[in-house]
Amino acid sequence: MFIDKLPEKADVVIIGCGVIGCAIARELSKYKLNIVAIEKEADVGWGVTKGNMGVVHPFVPQFGKIKGKMVIEGNRKFDEISHELDVPFRRYGLLIVALTFIQLLAMIVAYFYLKLKGITLRWVWRRKLREIEPYISRKAKAALFVPTAGATDPVKLAIAYAESAVENGVKIVTNTRVVGFDIVDKSIKGVITDKGRIETNWVINAAGVFSDEIEKLAGITKRKMWHGKGVMVIFDPILGDMYHHFIAPMPIKLDPRTKGGAIGLTVDGIPIWGPNLIEAKDKFDTRVSREDIELIIRKFKPLLRIFHDNWIIKYYAGIRPVDETSWDFVIGPTEIRGFINASYILSPGLTASQVIAEKVIEVLESEGLRLKAKENFNPYRKGIRSIRELDINEIDKLIHENNDYGEIICPCNKVTKAEIIEAIRRGARTIDSIKFRTGAGMGPCQGSRCLARIIEILVQETGMKLSKVSMKGGGSEIFLEG
Ligand SMILES: Cc1cc2nc3c(=O)[nH]c(=O)nc-3n(C[C@H](O)[C@H](O)[C@H](O)COP(=O)(O)OP(=O)(O)OC[C@H]3O[C@@H](n4cnc5c(N)ncnc54)[C@H](O)[C@@H]3O)c2cc1C
Repeated sequence: MFIDKLPEKADVVIIGCGVIGCAIARELSKYKLNIVAIEKEADVGWGVTKGNMGVVHPFVPQFGKIKGKMVIEGNRKFDEISHELDVPFRRYGLLIVALTFIQLLAMIVAYFYLKLKGITLRWVWRRKLREIEPYISRKAKAALFVPTAGATDPVKLAIAYAESAVENGVKIVTNTRVVGFDIVDKSIKGVITDKGRIETNWVINAAGVFSDEIEKLAGITKRKMWHGKGVMVIFDPILGDMYHHFIAPMPIKLDPRTKGGAIGLTVDGIPIWGPNLIEAKDKFDTRVSREDIELIIRKFKPLLRIFHDNWIIKYYAGIRPVDETSWDFVIGPTEIRGFINASYILSPGLTASQVIAEKVIEVLESEGLRLKAKENFNPYRKGIRSIRELDINEIDKLIHENNDYGEIICPCNKVTKAEIIEAIRRGARTIDSIKFRTGAGMGPCQGSRCLARIIEILVQETGMKLSKVSMKGGGSEIFLEG
């Protein structure tokens, strides 16, 4: 699926295979072009994309910014994109709840303001609210219901864009780091990597939290990156049975930079709360403190009637790459001809990914790249079939076709041997690659019951030496010898 050897030439080189680079790769694969996407990690979607909450936002309050416009369009496109790419997507809807009288007053203003901005929403009074959310706090007075809010799986979306791009001719080179550029008379002539040079006149900087470093390698220094840490807390599925929508407290004072987080659900129905927004020390500072978790719990716990701290399963943090001046996406040409930014893509970049990709095509065309549409572009890609989405008759039929669908490897998330083998056949060579493609090891036991079996299958299917089996590529090997 992905390759290790760097091609010598390309019409366009994309730097970074997060959800943005992969979406751009797929969008460009609609044209007769030789496209190469370069990723330093062993797989796609392991940067900012991995530390994501998976919300397909209906809007962000910064309506005047590029991200404010793109998020609305991105949300609208999600049904079509998730259908074409066979990626899980559920519109849970968002309830913005007033617990106090002041919040109620603020909500009246918010209702008319959001209506004016064209957002689809309804007012829900206390009794109806209790009907649809029986465990909502007794203090809840009313809520605004925004039905378009949804959830997807961020890494699966990046993988799907990537697989579709490859199917349509893009070369994705993993384990390869961009370290410099060949620039003559302020024009791109090539990209230098740790595996050699690739000749090209067009480069897209989609390097996420490393976008600033890629700009610096090209001599572009006008922007400064602020690192916005966001912590998310995952709970036992038992809590997920207690609410059915995203639920957020009505803010009294809007933080001009963020949406403020929510009580949420992953697309698989796992309860997830967050994220917050705090300044990280640097782009690698994904540490989570006790205080971070307590702040999230303290903020959202009052929304529910029942909550127990011991339902926490896991927590993690991601870093948002923020352009300190604009607090907005940076998409467009630069002073270096052929160097195009799709960078500093903070939240809600996942929601806007398709729209960002389309915008990059517009920029390339207006900068002089000739685009000729392919007649044979195939928009459809099939995901790995999971028994979790099937009823008992369908599972039975599947097991008759392939016995391995009858062997559960991950009991928490009900992942079968067949799904793990399919992930390996599609190119997964690390434990994390298998995990993100199938969900194996991501349930409440966090892999303690299935890791050994996954390793065994990986070794059997690939002939890989045990000592080469790693969590996420070189440097994360699990065994010393094998
Ligand atoms: C805590 C948090 C929660 C979020 N929640 C949401 C949400 O719910 N909904 C939403 O819409 N958005 C959300 N976002 C925003 C969203 O995750 C990002 O906008 C999006 O993932 C950015 O993707 P990207 O492709 O630009 O960056 P990345 O995913 O970081 O991809 C960049 C890639 O470039 C690679 N790279 C970097 N340097 C090099 C190099 N020198 N050579 C080769 N490769 C390189 C990296 O390895 C990486 O894979 C959230 C972000 C955070 C941090």
